[in-house]
Amino acid sequence: MRPVTALDIRPSMINMTESDLDAMTLPGLHETLWDDREFLGWRDANHNTKGYLVFWVGDSPRGFMVRSAESQMPAGKSAICVLCHTAQPAPQVSLFVAPKAGEEGKRGNTVGTYLCADLACSTLIRITPPESDAHPDPDRIVRHKAVGMSQRLENFSNRVLSVDA
Ligand SMILES: [Zn+2]
Repeated sequence: MRPVTALDIRPSMINMTESDLDAMTLPGLHETLWDDREFLGWRDANHNTKGYLVFWVGDSPRGFMVRSAESQMPAGKSAICVLCHTAQPAPQVSLFVAPKAGEEGKRGNTVGTYLCADLACSTLIRITPPESDAHPDPDRIVRHKAVGMSQRLENFSNRVLSVDA
């Protein structure tokens, strides 16, 4: 993805109040490997139930806040992240809710989804089977997964915005 700066992030958040924004902790943007990701996703270092996702829609950055459920998914089962479609041990996937944007959010309305608990989907989709007869081109697999994931992320953000996708 194209890099985003701290100045891009704040105004891009579609479902955060002023006090949410004041309390938000940013990740280490200077250490971020932008070429290896489709979106910037991070958990808030100071508020452990909060997480954020920021990505580009055309030339505009768009971001939203999610909150994880307090309870963990049961160990010993597997679960699938809605964004990257990676099946993994259930505790590594979390139920998150995103407050809806605008008036609906003020009334407490949210949309829920299952996401990788660490919001590091871009890393996961790059762990592909090694090149073989069955998988002749691992890079193509990654590109294919990346396109689908980016589309699902934008669609989810449209639900946060109450835009019919
Ligand atoms: Zn994921």
